[in-house]
Amino acid sequence: MSTTSARAGASTTSPSAGTDGLAIRGLEVVYNNAVVALRGVSLSVPEGGFVSVLGANGAGKTTLVRAITNLLFVHDGRVRDGSVTYGGQSLLDAGARAVVRAGICQVPEGRMLFPRLTVDENLRVGASTRKVTAADVAAELEHVYEVFPQIADRRDEKAGLMSGGEQQMVAVGRALMAKPRLMICDELSLGLAPLIVKDLFELVSQLNREEGMGVLVIEQNARVALQHSNYGYVMETGKVVVEGTSASLSEDDYVQEFYLGGAGEAKDAYEELVARYRKGNGS
Ligand code: ATP
Repeated sequence: MSTTSARAGASTTSPSAGTDGLAIRGLEVVYNNAVVALRGVSLSVPEGGFVSVLGANGAGKTTLVRAITNLLFVHDGRVRDGSVTYGGQSLLDAGARAVVRAGICQVPEGRMLFPRLTVDENLRVGASTRKVTAADVAAELEHVYEVFPQIADRRDEKAGLMSGGEQQMVAVGRALMAKPRLMICDELSLGLAPLIVKDLFELVSQLNREEGMGVLVIEQNARVALQHSNYGYVMETGKVVVEGTSASLSEDDYVQEFYLGGAGEAKDAYEELVARYRKGNGS
């Protein structure tokens, strides 16, 4: 598979963020001044858009999130070139808090909840980045519990005792407490059963449609991400190699073969392997 240059995408119409939304141009990131993790990445999330970034392990997806949220320094990484703007304002060097204040919140990979704190306490942490009154916090909490009634009845239980799906709802709820204009979800589906993943994506889509919240999902689960987003980018070894509308990416041979387990040679080889395994096991 070619990773040397960006392929002509399934659609050439890139969503133009203009001065609205998130715009990343020519982003280069290095770790420890040695490992180049992003090589000239450009992508956009228009205000209120729903965009997915797909890619296998090591493609650079988490690095992209760290660069947007200004958390590269925690990992000895830095932006070497390029720009990240939101609403026309540069986010680089703004500090992590400034990114949240600008309206960008993330649901981090692995959720990062406080397991010994209750659901309610974890959610309140999400409001701590804003200057808000107790009444604002209470209203936002009720909003989160309306979106996720499953966790409303368990608000006084320790978050660490919840199921994986419920914990992910708390993580999304905590991000909502900051009233984001753009929510970045890093591997929302990781380790969760397909039905839970479907419910979570549907709820996030609903927030996008009904409240105009922009969404950027970073996903290995290409199928569910493309089902819900409007536009997608595929990354490999630190570069965007394909981009296009989600509908056109779902039809793209390359994306089908490598990311959707589609109808190409990879699927044939996989099915042959399964057939041989079954024969060998007499099943
Ligand atoms: P995964 O899904 O496995 O998290 P990813 O697509 O998110 O993969 P990144 O974690 O962003 O990929 O990694 C991109 C590249 O940067 C990889 O080569 C990885 O080894 C390297 N990398 C990531 N974090 C660091 C770090 N703290 N120090 C050095 N190299 C790193």
